[in-house]
Amino acid sequence: LTGYVGFDSITQQIEKKLLKRGFTFNLMVVGRTGLGKSTLVNTIFASHLIDSKAPKRAADAPRQTTEITSVTNVIEENGVRLKLTITDTPGYGDQVNNENCWEPIIKYIKEQYSQYLRKELTPARERRIPDTRVHAILFFISPTGHALTPLDITVLKRLSEYANVIPVIAKSDSLTMEERQAFKRRIKDEIEFHGIRCYPYIDSVEDDVLLEGERIDRGVVQAIRDMIPFAVVGSERNIVIDGNAVRGRRTRWGMVNVEDESHCEFTHLRNFLTRTHLQDMIETTAVVHYEAFRTKQLLALKE
Ligand code: GDP
Ligand code: MG
Repeated sequence: LTGYVGFDSITQQIEKKLLKRGFTFNLMVVGRTGLGKSTLVNTIFASHLIDSKAPKRAADAPRQTTEITSVTNVIEENGVRLKLTITDTPGYGDQVNNENCWEPIIKYIKEQYSQYLRKELTPARERRIPDTRVHAILFFISPTGHALTPLDITVLKRLSEYANVIPVIAKSDSLTMEERQAFKRRIKDEIEFHGIRCYPYIDSVEDDVLLEGERIDRGVVQAIRDMIPFAVVGSERNIVIDGNAVRGRRTRWGMVNVEDESHCEFTHLRNFLTRTHLQDMIETTAVVHYEAFRTKQLLALKE
């Protein structure tokens, strides 16, 4: 028993430290007012993180399409801390004239990169630069069952140049299963036709996908990818189904349990965002999007 130095505990200490430090994850939601953005975020993180009531404003006040707000919460699960910031972009696309309505969003994303770069270039830089870079954008598509709008296409295209964009079909309980599948097919085709690069990228290097510490099958990951855009339903209320209180909605067609995979793809989206791809989205933001921004800025400085 003598001679045991205990080097091996170092790895445990490092891991513990990393776990204690936790993750920073910044999620942005984009889409028209009333599509259930706030509700979905609150459903995913199982708590009331952002206000899902329409913002109070004077009746005669113009709608603010440029007002971007962020809310930060620290969530802890089994000793792992997640510093979660939700950035809401209210009123997007609600105007009669939506020309350049995406500009404030792009500006916000770039500003976070800029801030990070400035801190990185400071001689006495902080050991850990606070990360406010947007790691993922949930893009809410209206459940029309027809097609993406020209505005959707433009905005998807622009946003995907700067960040990881994940499209979802909002309020999918308003479509039948057949309508959802056809709509999804159509959206996938349009995304491909217009050369929009949605996350996850096919060409990105992604080796290990871990789910709750266990390696998950690549086939499963591919199946999840094929599901994009996720057809989701959100709810902040419980309903009683078969004697159990579940997160759900009462609809014209019957009860929807948002966590039931045969009712909608909410759980798939939640797993994707909070488990299988969380780390990858953070890395991709740093390695792909921020790096592209950084290179461009530094080249411009040289000239
Ligand atoms: P936001 O403006 O995009 O943030 O939308 P909210 O989250 O405030 O939701 C607007 C309204 O739609 C609220 O009355 C919600 O209860 C309702 N809602 C939210 N998600 C869903 C959904 O998945 N299905 C249906 N049918 N209604 C929803
Ligand atoms: Mg909202």
